[in-house]
Amino acid sequence: MKGVWGRLLEVDLTAGTSRSIEIPEKVYRMFLGGRGLATYLLAREFREKWRFLDPLSPDNPLLLLTGPLTGYYPGVKLSVSGKSPQSNSIIGSVVSSEVAIELKASGFDGLVLKGSCEKPCYVFVENGNVEIRDASSIWGLGGLKLIKQFNSLLKEDVKADPKTPFVYIGPAGENKVRTAAVMAKLAHAAGYGGYGAVMGAKRVKAVAVKGYGSLPPVDDPESLNTLFRSALGNIKERMKRFRQWGTTEGTWHTGYYLSSMPVKNWSEEWHDVKDFSHVGFELETWVKNPWADWGCPVACMKLSIAKWKGEVFITDNPDYEMAAYLGSNLGVFTPKGAVVLSSLADELGLCGIQTGNVMGFAVELYEKGILTRDEVGYELKWGDVECLARLMKDIAYRRGIGEVLAEGTFRAARLLSEKKGVDLTKYAIQVKGIAVGAHGVRSGKDYPQPISYALSVQGGDHTSVAGFPVNSTESEAWYSILDSGVVCMFTVLDDSSLLEYLNKVTGWGLDPGEFYDIGRRIITLQRILLLIGGPDAEWSARDDDNPPRFYEPLPTGPYKGSALKREEVDELKKKYYAEMGWDEKGIPSEETLKRVGLEEFTPMLNMLY
Ligand code: SF4
Repeated sequence: MKGVWGRLLEVDLTAGTSRSIEIPEKVYRMFLGGRGLATYLLAREFREKWRFLDPLSPDNPLLLLTGPLTGYYPGVKLSVSGKSPQSNSIIGSVVSSEVAIELKASGFDGLVLKGSCEKPCYVFVENGNVEIRDASSIWGLGGLKLIKQFNSLLKEDVKADPKTPFVYIGPAGENKVRTAAVMAKLAHAAGYGGYGAVMGAKRVKAVAVKGYGSLPPVDDPESLNTLFRSALGNIKERMKRFRQWGTTEGTWHTGYYLSSMPVKNWSEEWHDVKDFSHVGFELETWVKNPWADWGCPVACMKLSIAKWKGEVFITDNPDYEMAAYLGSNLGVFTPKGAVVLSSLADELGLCGIQTGNVMGFAVELYEKGILTRDEVGYELKWGDVECLARLMKDIAYRRGIGEVLAEGTFRAARLLSEKKGVDLTKYAIQVKGIAVGAHGVRSGKDYPQPISYALSVQGGDHTSVAGFPVNSTESEAWYSILDSGVVCMFTVLDDSSLLEYLNKVTGWGLDPGEFYDIGRRIITLQRILLLIGGPDAEWSARDDDNPPRFYEPLPTGPYKGSALKREEVDELKKKYYAEMGWDEKGIPSEETLKRVGLEEFTPMLNMLY
């Protein structure tokens, strides 16, 4: 086997044991690793029982996986997966973390956490040896405090190398908030999916990994070396602007020119506040530019600091999605305000996208008089950083109105609709339990297509959008390959170079058709698990739709009046089903399963008719 070890390390938290699980090469060839491997392993383990698996129960495994490209391709990402407490399906969430490299250097392609600890614990893996240790002294902490104290704990408790990387959860994860993230370093998050809550339900505060071995051998080291050097140069050259500005450039480009940035819970998608731009962030908040994750020539990150009410707030950037969701979506148009809220989200261990989305939903309900001061306990106002910070903390600690908002936008809308006796789901900007990424589709100028979110097997996830052509870098097959490789999307230039790279690492000699079949296979299996869903929400073709607001005309900006057209979306949906080999209800057909080698899962289709 080349590029992978062919084994995972499984830790049973309940029993306090661990074991190595062998994975045949055929499985890697079919699913690569990361998101694809997680989908296969969970489908195989649970099959029809998937519907009854509670994502927040100890039975839901948490998978931290690498892929065949981990360690060889520039940059680093760790795949975080399991049954999502947001979508009740599998979300391939990724976070930039050197834990991925250390896992491979430990002789494993990933870590699977099963069961749960009785008391707060952390997991320490050194060269494949597992220790489950007491974490009560760091339970309740987040952000810098957690990082400092956990570093000391690792040193004293297990004599860990001072450079041991780890992933962790903040207070939100401990409180099983469905918008909680699995965090890395200070401000990196695997946000989509709500896996911070899954980790919290297992009472695992952190996972630290150190390996002193080599990476697995590759098929053609010499050519790979040449390819690596030319990839480094090409990526650096092509991503120059990204190195300078990171994704923060979107605060102006996406907000002003493309008119597809969330503003006040998506009631608008345009702004013309010049200071709320990459230049504004650079002048007002950046103290370091650029910095990078392991082996990354792009170095898209920046470090921001803001002082507010006598406190210092630090975050990386914030990147475009954070600036959009914890800035414009909440009516905050100052770099400082966005940095304060982003830093707070990091400290609490919250996903900025999911949390900014549910907060925008709450502020809109308050403005409309649907939520009252009595219910919230204070006034909610667009752009008021003080009340927004308070609301965010209430969500992380499930206090007051935060208890219902901690369920995420989809469930909060359902619960409040029931309570108020009116349908509030039209204000919920989400798809299948996942808040929509900060790229609108109404202007038609940004990268998502009208069906991008509606047809994605990961709902509103902007890093896994559906699109045409279905075998291209516009498709969800492509995004699933990136998440399974596992590589950072900003370091990949095109599909042919990635395929060449994969072949040099693995020796599989895949052609472009087989390459995209891997992606099609992954999303087909994800689609089956998504449709089975459960236990508290299930999805059908009816849910393959955009948030209702996307059918309303844009009220401002250069594309004023522009909106999605339902007939067009319906037509595209039919075309997409047909091209993916799904029937008129969006259910993958038996023939499709056979074509992509998923016959063993055919009996699961019976649950969908
Ligand atoms: S492009 Fe940015 S996010 Fe991706 S690995 Fe490099 S530094 Fe990290």
